[in-house]
Amino acid sequence: MVIQHRGQESAGISVFDGTTIGTVKGNGLVEVALPKDELVKLGGHEGIGHVRYSTTGSKSVVNAQPFTVTTAFGMVAVAHNGDITNFSTLKEKYMKDGWVFQTDSDSELVTKLLGKYLTQYDDPVKAIRATMGEIDGAYALTIMINDRLFAVRDPYGLRPLCLGRLDGGYIAVSESAAIDVLRGELIRDIAPGEICEVRKDTFKIYPAPGKHPKSHCMFEWVYFARPDSIIDGVGVYEVRRRIGVILAQECPADVDLVMPVPDSGRAHAIGYAAEAGIPYEEGFMKNRFANRTFIMPDQKQRENAVSMKMNPIKSTVAGKKILIVDDSIVRGTTLKKLVSMLKSAGAKEVHVRVGSPPIIAPCYYGVDMKTRDQFIAASHTVEEIREIIGADSLAYISIPGLIKAIGIGENDLCLACLTGKYPTNIPGEVHRFQSTLSHDF
Ligand code: AMP
Ligand code: SF4
Repeated sequence: MVIQHRGQESAGISVFDGTTIGTVKGNGLVEVALPKDELVKLGGHEGIGHVRYSTTGSKSVVNAQPFTVTTAFGMVAVAHNGDITNFSTLKEKYMKDGWVFQTDSDSELVTKLLGKYLTQYDDPVKAIRATMGEIDGAYALTIMINDRLFAVRDPYGLRPLCLGRLDGGYIAVSESAAIDVLRGELIRDIAPGEICEVRKDTFKIYPAPGKHPKSHCMFEWVYFARPDSIIDGVGVYEVRRRIGVILAQECPADVDLVMPVPDSGRAHAIGYAAEAGIPYEEGFMKNRFANRTFIMPDQKQRENAVSMKMNPIKSTVAGKKILIVDDSIVRGTTLKKLVSMLKSAGAKEVHVRVGSPPIIAPCYYGVDMKTRDQFIAASHTVEEIREIIGADSLAYISIPGLIKAIGIGENDLCLACLTGKYPTNIPGEVHRFQSTLSHDF
């Protein structure tokens, strides 16, 4: 539940009971998908869980994870975060070999590949390496092979994965906030390309063979992860606050108060206000129970949903020059609506600052920003966007400013949705690095 923000479509859990792996999964939030009376039927000391946010594959419950297969070696369960970029090619190849697929999810392919290599090698680590040698793209995996548990991170480190100590055992999870909430202790991030085997009272690391350029997703710090998580050694809240500080330095404004777009722009706005020495106010009331607007299928629905979700506090905004800070602009729906709501509530001026540089290119690595025509910044200048959203001024943080705020070197970050240059080979897209990754697993 602590990482529910990473996926709300479905949830699942697989547990090894000493003989077999039992799985419960369903559509919806964790509480609905995993009813308590079903969970009590799962006994055991090792398990993996998943919350799904679909990018590849439909929202049908058949795509809910973990996926399981039974092999000659035993039972396998897999939970996957990320997108496998060569999924279609591999699926086609294996279908020609006679494989059948029950879902349209890339994670099913990963599970089946593991099954194939387990049968071939009779050795889980060799089977995982062989699977890693075939798949490309973004993956943070937790894998259970009978009673053995593994956490695996793709060689670029695109999606986060960390290891913690909990109740005398171990936990591997996408975000450290989950370890904190369970009152465990963060040990460290799983390094790109590493396989970590979690045992009852110890863990064993199988390091990545060879050296690879890392490529941590910048959007985890900007938007996706919880502010109380630490990803690859860098605190998410601190990055967001620094983004605000740098935004204030790069794009100052003469305003009476700074306001966040709740909740995604809050830490950025706090940083901006502190650096600029301008009062910080909460000027929007957000309905905590409203549905997610971003994923709604049609533009009118998304706009209506923003008005249902947010309401300005008139006494705070009327007659004031206001600066609002959000983490990102994708289509521009949220900010267009919010600026007009603030003006209707009597704001004298509304200035907008954005905590990510313009998003102009699709993500192939597990964040739901898939098509170029979705991005307002792909076809409009900043001035045109300012006009469309009706703001008095609009400015984004610069790419160097963002890199500085994250504090990880440019070559170790994925910035592809900002630059259109991809850290992995994507047909039809520009490849950022000269050399391709070795698939020497
Ligand atoms: P838009 O309204 O289309 O400009 O989307 C930007 C808003 O959606 C911002 O408030 C973000 O916090 C949020 N957002 C940005 N990217 C995503 C994403 N991939 N999935 C869900 N929400 C997002
Ligand atoms: Fe993250 Fe953007 Fe790279 Fe996708 S393309 S992994 S959202 S930085």
